[in-house]
Amino acid sequence: MTSDKKRVNLTLTKIYRDALELLVEEGIYLTTQEAMRDALRMLFEAQGIPPFYSQEAELSECPQCSGPATHPSGLCRDCHQAKLEAGPP
Ligand SMILES: [Zn+2]
Repeated sequence: MTSDKKRVNLTLTKIYRDALELLVEEGIYLTTQEAMRDALRMLFEAQGIPPFYSQEAELSECPQCSGPATHPSGLCRDCHQAKLEAGPP
């Protein structure tokens, strides 16, 4: 095991384990660990944590306020949040 890897213990209730196993059974992920790593990557991206957020999102501008589009949705985080709060059209 390389030194940049560290095992972490995570307690999961059945509903989480079942959902993760379903992702593996359906062939979306090879292992539940892979699914969890991808879930974390999506979380970090959504929170705009480098180096997880996309380069395109970093370079483009928010179509609503012309600020930097720091959210993977292509909006800035403020506009993305406002959109979430507004709900579906
Ligand atoms: Zn914006």
